This record gives sequence, C-alpha cells and structure tokens, in this order.
Amino acid sequence: MASVPVRFVLCEPTHPGNIGAAARAIKTMGFDRLVLVNPPADHHGAEARARASGALDVLESAEVMASLAAAVQGCGLVVGASARHRRLGIAEFDPRECAGQMLAAGAGGPVALVFGTERSGLSNAELDLCHALVYIPANPGYSSLNLAAAVQLLAWELRAAQGITLDIPPPESPPATVADMELFYEHLQRVLAASGFLDPGNPRNLMRRLRRLFNRARLDQNELNILRGILAALAPGSGERHWRGVPPPADDGTP
Ligand code: SAH
Repeated sequence: MASVPVRFVLCEPTHPGNIGAAARAIKTMGFDRLVLVNPPADHHGAEARARASGALDVLESAEVMASLAAAVQGCGLVVGASARHRRLGIAEFDPRECAGQMLAAGAGGPVALVFGTERSGLSNAELDLCHALVYIPANPGYSSLNLAAAVQLLAWELRAAQGITLDIPPPESPPATVADMELFYEHLQRVLAASGFLDPGNPRNLMRRLRRLFNRARLDQNELNILRGILAALAPGSGERHWRGVPPPADDGTP
C-alpha cells in the first residue's frame, strides 16, 4: 500500500488540532508524509497529539518548511486543494481525477497535495506553484470543509485509486453449501406439508418464495444448523431419514 509517494503539505495551518487530525487522516489511508509550511509553534503540542491519536509517528516525523517552494521541491505534480472554484485558468480536477493523476505521476517520482490555511485558503503565490487544483464538489452553498476533513477525503480517494484489497477476516462459519441448502429445503417442505401450511398438491410457489428468502440471506453453516434444529424440534421425526429424496420443486414458470 501507499505506493504513491505523496506529500501532504499544509500551508500555514493555524490550529494544532487540525495538524494532528491531518496526521491521523493520512495514516489511516496508508500514507505517512506530512509537510508543514510555517506551522504554529505548538504544532507538536497537546492538542495536536490528542487529535493525532494513534498517528503520533506521522505527526512527529512531519517536516517543517519555511516555504511552499521548499515543501514541493522535486515533485513532478503539485495539486492544490481549493474550497471554491477558482477561475484562474488552472486545470481543476475532482477528487477521483486528482487521485488518478497523482497515481500516474507518482510512478515517476514524488507528488504533492497542497492545502491552504484555515481562514483564507491558498494564496495566489501558493497557487502559482500548483500544476492543477482539486475541488471537492461539496454543497455549493457551503463547500468549505474542515482542513483535516479535506485531507481525509482526498487521501481516501488516493487509497481507493490504488485498488485496495479488502482485508476481510475469514468467516467464523463457512457458507452453507448448495447441497446443504437443498437438504434444508427438502426438510422445510416436508415439515410445512405435514403442518398443513403447504398444500402438497401445489408446493411450488411457496417453496420458490422461501428459497428466494433464504438464498438472499446467504446462510452460513451455523445458521443452517440452527434452522435444521428448529425444524427437527418442531416436527420430531421429520429428519433426513424420512424426507430425503423429495424432489425439489419443478419450474412452474413463476418469475
Ligand atoms: N475559507 C477558505 C477555506 C479554507 S479550508 C477558503 O474559502 O478558501 C482549508 C483548506 O481545506 C482549503 O484551503 C483547502 O485546501 C481544503 N478544503 C476545504 N474544503 C475543500 C473543498 N471543498 N475542496 C477542496 N479542498 C478543500
């Protein structure tokens, strides 16, 4: 992960809490390079640390620079994040395009995402160093996100663009197999017929609906065992021995 060598550059951030929260935002998305241009003196202080939470390493290793030019030195693509549309003749990406462009440019060397100061955003001199802008198309009536929230959103897009693989732990119980489900449906049909709820002369529509219901639930083996246990408890003697071999309902043309 984090194969894009991206620097997240905060220009003159004024709130230490935002700096900590930005460190956390980038670490959660698999990035670690935070650059601060003229941050406040307490940028490592208690508030920043509290908001960084488990991302203290990113906060503590943040580089401090005296100018944006120094912060983006060597970057092949510099994209400025803007809280409003700016008609400056600079290319403007949406967050997804921005991520794609950074991914492509990042293959050749470092790239930078640049964020403006909380009160006024990126200055014209800072914009002069940007190859393009990125605008998060938020509520047109109120499009200014909190600084760290904007960092979070753009970092997520970069992560998503890298084709993340979901790290899903194996299920506690494996999914019920098709064969097990067939045995369950046969058991269910037998019990429903014995109870009088299902008309043995015309079982198909009901069984088809029930199949759809249970198939939608994508039962695992534990859950299937519970259902089989319930059937066996409600209708003692309806067990496999007695009902095995009942054919599944034939297609009656019901959609
Ligand atoms: N009042 C400032 C907003 C500053 S918010 C202004 O009007 O420009 C601080 C920074 O968060 C912005 O400079 C920008 O880098 C980022 N940001 C906030 N909202 C954003 C949005 N909708 N799209 C892109 N970046 C945004």
